[in-house]
Amino acid sequence: MTQRSLLALFAHPDDEAFGMGGALARYSAEGAHVTLVCATRGEVGEISDPTLATPETLGEVREAELRCAAAALGIHELIFLDHRDSGMAGTPPNEHPDAFAQQPAEVVVPTLVGILRRLRPQVVITFDPTGGYGHPDHIAIHTHTVEAFHAAGDALRYPAQGVAWQPQRLLYSVIPRSVIRAWRDEMAARGEDTSSFDSPEGQAMGWPDEDVQLYLDVTAYIPAKWAALTCHRTQFGDDHSFATLPDEEQQRGLGREAFVQAWPTLESGGRLIDLFPQP
Ligand SMILES: [Zn+2]
Repeated sequence: MTQRSLLALFAHPDDEAFGMGGALARYSAEGAHVTLVCATRGEVGEISDPTLATPETLGEVREAELRCAAAALGIHELIFLDHRDSGMAGTPPNEHPDAFAQQPAEVVVPTLVGILRRLRPQVVITFDPTGGYGHPDHIAIHTHTVEAFHAAGDALRYPAQGVAWQPQRLLYSVIPRSVIRAWRDEMAARGEDTSSFDSPEGQAMGWPDEDVQLYLDVTAYIPAKWAALTCHRTQFGDDHSFATLPDEEQQRGLGREAFVQAWPTLESGGRLIDLFPQP
């Protein structure tokens, strides 16, 4: 039997742990080959504690944090695309010439096609079209992954990138709308600013719960996921909104991960039973 292989593609160190860290740990523990592509080193992210990094060193520090998280999750191979974090929409780092969101498809897609053809994963997972909450780099990795997923199987496209390979499934890691609402309510209860959630865009954040096609139980992998999250120290300080949630809510938030299948499309109301197709 050929080994199961899963390729996840995200934009920043920490995207992997928060959205689907439990799934990565679970499939690795179950014997699948697990690879993570990270488009940037999160160079313009927040710094939870100024003793950990400066804006100049943040990329280097976050690379080390991601290597720590990858080890905690059992990720076998970690690939950086070496682009620069574009920052939140409308901020000056958007304009940097190396910003990932500025890179044209002809720069990114051939690289991804080469990775897909070398690794030959059955399952490819990335962000949904909104990137979870609209971050320009999340949307960019989504867009390039979708194109590369379909191009990889076409021998006439990018022939220099290896022998054609068509993965069987393209999935999106999604945040159910109810989870976003719960965060908002928790923040409101603590008197924090929730205006970004309450705007029209904020109301539309997250994937409609009724359209989630797979809730994966990763309760057994919460310790690995938590270990990965705590590797990302510059992002998840001790006072991070998630770290201060009551234990029970942390468990509920971490123990279940949500996915939808983008290709092949399921019939309306269709559900998945696993990330991998059944043999
Ligand atoms: Zn991100």
